[in-house]
Amino acid sequence: MSKSRFYALEKALSREPIKIIEDKKRSEIFGANVFNTPKMRQYLSKEAYNSVLNAVEKGSKIDRKSASTIASGMKDWALSKGATHYTHWFQPLTGSTAEKHDAFFETIDADTAIERFGGSKLVQQEPDASSFPHGGIRNMFEARGYTAWDPTSPAFVYGTTLYIPTIFVSYTGEALDYKTPLLRSLSAIDSAASAICKYFDKNVKKVQTSLGWEQEYFLIDSALASSRPDIMLTGRTLLGHSSAKGQQLDDHYFGTIPTRAMAFMRDLEYECILLGIPVKTRHNEVAPNQFELAPIYEEANLAVDHNSLLMDVMPRVAKRHHFRVLMHEKPFANVNGSGKHNNWSLSTDSGINLLSPGKTPMSNLQFLAFFIATIKAVNDNEELLRAAIASAGNDHRLGANEAPPAVMSVFIGNQLTYVLKELEKVTIGKLSPEEKTDLKLNVVGKIPEILLDNTDRNRTAPFAFTGDKFEFRAVGSMANCANPMTVLNTIVAKQLKDFKNEVDLLVDKKDMKKDDAIFNVIREYIKTSKNVLFEGNGYGPEWEKEAKKRGLSNNKTTPLALRAKISEQSLEIFKETGVMNEVEVRARYDIEVDEYALRIQIESRVLGDIARNHIVPTAIKYQNTLIENVKGLKEIFGSDFEIHAKEQLKLIKSISILMEGVNSKIDLMIEERKKVNKLTNAEKKALRYCNNVKPYLDLIRYDCDKLEMLIDDELWPLVKYREMLFIR
Ligand code: ADP
Ligand code: MG
Repeated sequence: MSKSRFYALEKALSREPIKIIEDKKRSEIFGANVFNTPKMRQYLSKEAYNSVLNAVEKGSKIDRKSASTIASGMKDWALSKGATHYTHWFQPLTGSTAEKHDAFFETIDADTAIERFGGSKLVQQEPDASSFPHGGIRNMFEARGYTAWDPTSPAFVYGTTLYIPTIFVSYTGEALDYKTPLLRSLSAIDSAASAICKYFDKNVKKVQTSLGWEQEYFLIDSALASSRPDIMLTGRTLLGHSSAKGQQLDDHYFGTIPTRAMAFMRDLEYECILLGIPVKTRHNEVAPNQFELAPIYEEANLAVDHNSLLMDVMPRVAKRHHFRVLMHEKPFANVNGSGKHNNWSLSTDSGINLLSPGKTPMSNLQFLAFFIATIKAVNDNEELLRAAIASAGNDHRLGANEAPPAVMSVFIGNQLTYVLKELEKVTIGKLSPEEKTDLKLNVVGKIPEILLDNTDRNRTAPFAFTGDKFEFRAVGSMANCANPMTVLNTIVAKQLKDFKNEVDLLVDKKDMKKDDAIFNVIREYIKTSKNVLFEGNGYGPEWEKEAKKRGLSNNKTTPLALRAKISEQSLEIFKETGVMNEVEVRARYDIEVDEYALRIQIESRVLGDIARNHIVPTAIKYQNTLIENVKGLKEIFGSDFEIHAKEQLKLIKSISILMEGVNSKIDLMIEERKKVNKLTNAEKKALRYCNNVKPYLDLIRYDCDKLEMLIDDELWPLVKYREMLFIR
């Protein structure tokens, strides 16, 4: 066994779980490190407190004077928590979070210093962040990006730093981050949805979007992970033969959580609770070493921040436990990859979940309006929704028989399918009193309050109604939820706006009663969004054929999928809803296309290096041993030696063939890369990386994995799947 592999294994096997002591109830420490409402009450003047509250609830501006008082109170609280620094915390388009710490410490004169934090420092910062991706929005000579406080997501202390959630925009106001468009989309859906709610309840003032994410991840011992250059540089294994035992027996899923993993989870949950992340659920996932964590759902902006924060905190806690967290969508071949289900719903300021059927026919009619508008939005923008979850990592999952296919479809369960069928029969125009009564009593009124059992069965749909919310299951585990949530909010906001216009038009022009008009528009939407509804097995090959017949897109790779982002239709929707202007959408497109090419480029380089520097030399070593053996046999047996050396000779030949395969394919791959890198058009580059370079990753891997099976285990330099995938 190579030295590095031996030491890594020895280290991993000798680990003991770290003892975690929880001496307080979680409810007692929840949000202890968050500058939340109770702390604001304590540290702020009544005036300042109210101005934050108004900013959160009504989006009103905070004036300079209040900002100073808030900053000062926030600082006092942070100092009491041991903070020495503050940072504007934002989510640039790299996918991770960014921070630049400044000390509260300031000198007054040569001998005296104080801790100070002024209002302007709280509200706006110029982080000199010229190296973040901006898709050409920010010219390099004008490399300014500004961060500005987002009071709707509370500040918190982590370590010794006060974190202030912010948006990140260019000098001219274009969004350079994930949060800005998300906030705009939340506001768009708020106004569009509130307007519909007013048909049913005049008192509705606000509609809030909720998000409950479920984060899947893998845990690998850090010594084992460190011994693999592919994991360290790309977050996934680029080669490695499958373990004889993988997930076939389903013995990991919901099984007993391994003790080391459990200690990590408890430690992580403790940190999360202090930070106000309401973590609730933990369990083993399908693949060995794969786990899931889910919180109680929250307002979407906060939920997105909390997911980003979690992704920051996880690797740090993991380090204490000698684990490496793999957040990649497909760290290991032939076992399941990781996703991040986004559970999404809408609720009013009085706490009514608009996607939960109610007790009365009228509340059910309201439910149906939101339900069908969402389906119609997905139907009309399925390709854009697919684009919102496109990434190099997620391409490994979608359509690979473990995750939703690359075809977007909506599952609603048979009870609601029946309801839609009945509603489709509604008369065009005004309804007779009998028809209306019948509909209200026997169709709309019969929607059971609880649909959960019926709607949770089909796990193969990328977009499923699960009783009181929609669950978008195709999101990748590494993704920032803001991107898919922004798109979903935007398309639904647009649809709700249209819904309202259409209902009003029928009321005004056709003299229809309001509920007649609503029934009519619902019927139209049912008729025109049938394509996207699918109740069958989303993993089956028949569905792909059927989906094609229905005209649904099936974009299997990121470069193809991303194009929908900049279609006329998408640009128009983003513009109409005020979520993004054309420059902003195109900039994002450019960044994502670019990132895709870079990721494949890195993977291709890393695999080339490992194959040449680790695999081929090992193969030669083993072949030499065989050659020595054959020579010895010849010495002993003379011309008869071939009878005794048959297997060895076969092995020697096989190794030569495989080595030749590896080397020649690496040469071809490098040639391709050289050609692709000459291209200046980012879109073409991404496509070529996808079509001409990426296939070599699988081909080279195939030969390497074959060699792994032939070569003496003692010599093999890389930690194997079976050694990585089973935490004891
Ligand atoms: P499953 O794995 O069966 O989908 P989980 O319990 O793991 O179930 O996850 C359900 C998720 O849905 C949780 O994150 C929960 O907070 C979230 N959720 C529940 N109700 C809502 C809602 N109204 N809006 C958004 N998310 C919700
Ligand atoms: Mg789920």
